[in-house]
Amino acid sequence: MSPFPTSTVLGYPRIGPRRELKRALESYWDGRATRDELDRTGAELRARTWRRLAELGLEGLPSNTFSMYDQVLDTAVLLGAVPARYRDTDDPYFAMARGTGELAPLRMTKWFDTNYHYIVPEIGPGTVFKLDAAKPLSEVREARALGYETRPVIVGPVTFLLLASALDRLDEVLGCYEELLAALAAEGVGWVQLDEPALVADRTPEERAAVRSAYERLGSCGTRPGLFVATYFGDAGEALPVLAGTPVEALGVDLVRGGVPEIDLAGKTVVAGVVSGRDVWRTPAERALGALAAVRAGRVTVSTSCSLLHVPYDVEAEPGLDSRLKERLAFAEQKVAEVVALSRSPFHGTAPAAASVARPAPVAAEGRGPYAERAAAQAGHLRLPPLPATTIGSFPQTGELRAARAAAAAGTLSQQDYERRVEAEIERVVRMQERLGLDVLVHGEPERNDMVQYFAEHLDGFAVTANGWVQSYGSRCTRPPILYGDVSRPSPITVRWATYAQSLTDKPVKGMLTGPVTIVAWSFVRDDLPLRDVVFQVADAVREEVRDLEAAGMKIIQVDEPALRELLPLRRDAQADYLEWAVSAYRRATSGASDRTQIHTHLCYSDADQILAAIDALDADVTTIESARSGGRILGAVESFGRGLGPGVYDIHSPRVPSAEEVAELLRRTLAVLPAERVWVNPDCGLKTRTYEQVEASLANVVTAARELRHRM
Ligand code: GLN
Ligand code: ZN
Repeated sequence: MSPFPTSTVLGYPRIGPRRELKRALESYWDGRATRDELDRTGAELRARTWRRLAELGLEGLPSNTFSMYDQVLDTAVLLGAVPARYRDTDDPYFAMARGTGELAPLRMTKWFDTNYHYIVPEIGPGTVFKLDAAKPLSEVREARALGYETRPVIVGPVTFLLLASALDRLDEVLGCYEELLAALAAEGVGWVQLDEPALVADRTPEERAAVRSAYERLGSCGTRPGLFVATYFGDAGEALPVLAGTPVEALGVDLVRGGVPEIDLAGKTVVAGVVSGRDVWRTPAERALGALAAVRAGRVTVSTSCSLLHVPYDVEAEPGLDSRLKERLAFAEQKVAEVVALSRSPFHGTAPAAASVARPAPVAAEGRGPYAERAAAQAGHLRLPPLPATTIGSFPQTGELRAARAAAAAGTLSQQDYERRVEAEIERVVRMQERLGLDVLVHGEPERNDMVQYFAEHLDGFAVTANGWVQSYGSRCTRPPILYGDVSRPSPITVRWATYAQSLTDKPVKGMLTGPVTIVAWSFVRDDLPLRDVVFQVADAVREEVRDLEAAGMKIIQVDEPALRELLPLRRDAQADYLEWAVSAYRRATSGASDRTQIHTHLCYSDADQILAAIDALDADVTTIESARSGGRILGAVESFGRGLGPGVYDIHSPRVPSAEEVAELLRRTLAVLPAERVWVNPDCGLKTRTYEQVEASLANVVTAARELRHRM
């Protein structure tokens, strides 16, 4: 077996430096391009990545890190886990990913604690596992034709089955992996990488036993490549000695988020992840070299802590960024160069000076009054009917609006004309809501490109990129802002638009803000301060905005916190501490409002059992939460929330218009568990991805249903 290369990365971005894959996919899906054209784009992107990694001096090149949609879906296909109903569609792969006219897609959920979303494999009694190794084999051959030997990267059997909640199928799946190893060996592949990030979360003794038996079995295959099992996104902890006891030759450990392994791995290669794949900062050389020196292993390879999928391509594609900030940044290209430099010389690289900043002392939130007092004060102030109908904030973002924003940014539309355009949109949305008969209105968020980026653009301490796209799922990318310094709010951000909307109507309009945890969760964050302190800085900026909205006459302020669950640590012993400070940051942001100002919050999902107590502890006067999409399952769990609650009655993820009767049925179910005086009527989430036509028809039915039930009260 050839020794493991001295430098590698666990994976690389694949959407393309100019989002070439996104465009190619969308053209193919729309019927504007052929499958051949799509495949050609894929091949070009793969070739370009291998060429670039080799040019940068990286020794161990990965393959099979490219995907047309998602690596977990690729693994399902590799193992033959394609549910029968998709098999006869034109394109089963994309049918599973995106659905067809008739078939719903497979479920999608977050990849560990990242903002990447994977397709959840569906494994049932009818699943017959059967290896289809075409993709990894063809990528190996494709790279070889270009002159590169590569290491195929595949989701490991334990992680794959845990994600599918089907660990009881391990035996069958291992049969496929054995065949795969044989096929790769026959192809002349030297090493294979099996990704097992699930091992950095808490695992039961039975699950650890499954890890042991899986890798003992794969390790004892007759002819096979070298086995490299990669753990990442945290400390592999108690899984590491288990893996170390198997014949696996190389172990990947995340030395950015996890500690240097305490055990002596003398017989193994340790692939040491010292360059972070989760942030955009340059690697402090001493820290990395210190960690590398501390590893006790037969051989140490320098690597990234995880795949670079989670960072943008290249800092050099950002001419607009301040040069002092740029010196501190490393995107995928720069991180590869760091890996190479670290592998070549212990003296290479100097640590960048960390910005020195004063630590803000988080101030305890002075409480608002008890809910009963707030509710009484708000009832007099707001005079709402029972079962008030409202929406979550955004209205459809039209192509025209996006074009106007782009023109304003490019300077071809004057700021004044752009603002007039936004005002016209606000007026349209307000009039529409009045016509529909909603009780609490919104301004529709037409001025926002994104609920986080918009605030980042208006706060000090943040930078936004021009090309820093990161894949979120399939063809979807986000451009996370970079929180690099102390955060402050130079001037009011939303007051102008909120008060304009309020000036048009006698109905109350909600001021609409993004919460501190969500702003931080969807940004790249400085690493020289504890996350908690960063969140509190943002909370203080939000707090100022809340106060200014109130002072400007807004009677209701909504502070969304849809990402509350996202920062939840993977290990249970760290979760309580996180939830404690996340909740207190939210309360810090909202507690500057007086009792008669009604605070709303919103969360986009309902499978939030772990954090329901925290959502309750946010102490918002009204909580709107997804419910329609998941068939009202949340109702039992939120019954105990002693304040206003709006379980969604309209699933906005679908273009379908729900009938008034369907909405009324969901409302009746809500009223069966919650006291009517606390119930709000609203969609599951914001409306920005829908068309005006769909929204208007759906909201008309929502209002009809609310009125019908109101009259029976
Ligand atoms: N207020 C935001 C909107 O309606 C909330 C979005 C979200 O929850 N993700 O778009
Ligand atoms: Zn939402």
